[in-house]
Amino acid sequence: MSTRPAASISVDLDNKWAYLRAAGRDDWENCSSYLPMVIERMIDLLGSCELPLTVFLVGRDLRSSDDVNAIERFNTLQSWEPANHSYNHLPWMHTLDTDAIRDEIESTHHAIETSFGRPPRGFRGPGFSCPDEVLSVLTEWNYLYDASIFPTSMAPIARAVFLARTRLRGEQRDRAKKLYGGMASMRKPNRPYLREIRGRSLCEIPVTVMPLIRTPIHFSYLNFIAGFNVTLAKTYFRAALATCRRLDVPPSLLLHPPDFLGCEDDSDMAYLPGMTTTRSRKLDFMKWALSLYASQFDVTTMIKQVQPDCATENAVAPLFGQAFN
Ligand SMILES: [Zn+2]
Repeated sequence: MSTRPAASISVDLDNKWAYLRAAGRDDWENCSSYLPMVIERMIDLLGSCELPLTVFLVGRDLRSSDDVNAIERFNTLQSWEPANHSYNHLPWMHTLDTDAIRDEIESTHHAIETSFGRPPRGFRGPGFSCPDEVLSVLTEWNYLYDASIFPTSMAPIARAVFLARTRLRGEQRDRAKKLYGGMASMRKPNRPYLREIRGRSLCEIPVTVMPLIRTPIHFSYLNFIAGFNVTLAKTYFRAALATCRRLDVPPSLLLHPPDFLGCEDDSDMAYLPGMTTTRSRKLDFMKWALSLYASQFDVTTMIKQVQPDCATENAVAPLFGQAFN
């Protein structure tokens, strides 16, 4: 058994159309998929570090056999777990009615089970949106965990940057004003904890932020810093992992496809923070960061973080101690 502290890693496998729609582009439905290219790069880097992966899938992408075949390539990793990231990737799930929320979750649940032969057991809301109606549906469908909390102090800044860069207008822009939660999100726990939803237990695994100051430490944020200064990004990430170890916070870190794209790969993605870096510089930095993470922690999929023996719910217990830091 490993003596390294527990940790997990996941990717929100958001396709190009989701980014273009979020940017307010009218032609978002007609763009090509970058999933086959990005997945190969992810497999290369994660595989070389012997890292597993939880993959939050958007149901809409599973209509494409090319994308499903590309996703199946995750079978070459040490292990991977498909999880639910809604059907249409609407970052404003909190504004949908109950039937629409149910549809977003259930249609992706079925698409994942049909495509990969196993049902998802985890969910993350797009834009870290997770109203109570979502949690109720998750427990009904025997989900073991939700991963939609991003307990950062930077939510208002992240939302302001998003709104400044998007061309969304009217109702969609109003809905986007609630993205990432408010200051309330930074008062939420920064470590896994159990929630009681209608008499059932559901594990909440927040996207880990820097303990105490609550700044983001997921890879898109690191890439954003590395775009200005690689040494600073490396120092910050080392400090974040050291603080997690010292305060006994089991990190759950998050990847996005643009973490594996350089500025020469796709000019449509140029509006995103962190997309000014060349492909080779970005992949070099990602390899360094993933290797460091793998060397310092016993990194598993999220389902394994919740259920180390994948057998009983009692196995959750070792992860939970003090809820706040
Ligand atoms: Zn997403």
